[in-house]
Amino acid sequence: MSSNQLSDSPKEECGVIGVFAPNEDVARMTFFGLFALQHRGQEAAGIAVADGAGMSVHKAAGLVSSVFTQSVMEKMCGHYAIGHTRYSTTGSSSERNAQPFMIETINGPLALAHNGNLINSAELRNELMQQGVGFSSSSDTEVMTMMLARNGGATWEERIKHAMQKWIGAYSLVILTRNGVYAVRDPWGFRPLCIGLLPSGGHAVASETGALQTLGCEAIRDIKPGEIVALSNNALTVTQALPPVTPSAMCVFEHIYFARPDQTWDGINVHHARQRLGEELAHEMIKGWKEEGRQMKESADVVIPVPDSSIPAAIGFSRISGIPYNDGFIKNRYVGRTFIEPTDSLRKRGVALKFNVIHQNVLDKRVIMIDDSIVRGNTMGPMIKLLRNAGAKEVNVAITCPPIAHPCFMGVDMGRYEDLIAHNRSIEKIREHVGADSLYYLSAEGMMKALQRTDGFCQACFTGRYPISVDFSNVKTGFERGIKS
Ligand code: SF4
Repeated sequence: MSSNQLSDSPKEECGVIGVFAPNEDVARMTFFGLFALQHRGQEAAGIAVADGAGMSVHKAAGLVSSVFTQSVMEKMCGHYAIGHTRYSTTGSSSERNAQPFMIETINGPLALAHNGNLINSAELRNELMQQGVGFSSSSDTEVMTMMLARNGGATWEERIKHAMQKWIGAYSLVILTRNGVYAVRDPWGFRPLCIGLLPSGGHAVASETGALQTLGCEAIRDIKPGEIVALSNNALTVTQALPPVTPSAMCVFEHIYFARPDQTWDGINVHHARQRLGEELAHEMIKGWKEEGRQMKESADVVIPVPDSSIPAAIGFSRISGIPYNDGFIKNRYVGRTFIEPTDSLRKRGVALKFNVIHQNVLDKRVIMIDDSIVRGNTMGPMIKLLRNAGAKEVNVAITCPPIAHPCFMGVDMGRYEDLIAHNRSIEKIREHVGADSLYYLSAEGMMKALQRTDGFCQACFTGRYPISVDFSNVKTGFERGIKS
């Protein structure tokens, strides 16, 4: 049983970090930055370090704290480093696909760590294989690394720029060379990447501002879509390698679910955005219930979140609806982050391995349960059952985004129509399937109102309108399944 089966939210692919800090213990800084990005991937972790002459890498399956021991860290010396935490779908592929990827090139050693997914990687991989290049993994990151190794150009910026012209899809990258660190973001801006100034000089770049704050960074800004930024001690060297696509297409799930609540992108703080998602949901649901002849305040007793990501939304929902907030579930944060398989009898307990109910808070109550999303619909039903077994009189489910009816090809693990419960199924059918008394989803308009923007976000999994044209027969999920089997 993987963490996958114990949660019905989308699964993020990775977190990345890069540090340029001559005279500092960059490996240790990268370790602590990765620690702050652990929520973005718990299956594998890696760090590559360069010292101006050579490069070394250490990576393995497991949590950051178990992959990097004191003795490993002592051997990782240098001034420049990149790191990666990985989420992947199968245990066996974790080691092989762990990042950073490191290779020797004609221009010196090169390492790369990637958050995202190229939708044309199968095509690019085939091209390289035709030219005699072999691969050791099923990862598109290896394809990107090989392309950089083979590209001509006088500088790494030129080689990266050349490759970006061929890459289609989501990529927030950190690249390590013998004597430099580069940050690269795709022109759509699908995945986040931000940069800050270290207190001792030098710079750090990471998927989330929380990791930069851990390192004491100041003057934090987003890497803009289409940019290559060479980290340095003082001024950054910024190259606008490709024109940014307008409007940009940042993954809206970063705000709904993936990111830590302390994260702020483009002036939007995640915690506050989630509170507003709950407020908008309450406004819409009060209206909907009224049309059905129900006054919400008299028809429900308690608002409970599915921890942790839905806590701010439940607070916002309670504030607008006037229905008291309380904790209903206690989450074991460590289940799903273990590689020990449960026994058959434990496996049957399903979500009960991860969540316990505070009976006194739901007994004889009409509950409104707030969650961030339903992807496959496998865990929502058992969670509702847990509440009913604890004596809840009614379980009404409210979701802080619209139904996920289309796959994602840009780096989130929901790549097939047949896996999505909302594909070709009405909300009423989903309600029946999960066994809720009622089921509400926030509208796309309400979601954007909560994010205080009219555009700038990818919403393709709700709408089916992809920011890039997708050839469904040739996307990466297809070749990955082939390789992994
Ligand atoms: S399709 Fe959905 S999950 Fe994928 S990038 Fe777009 S918003 Fe994010």
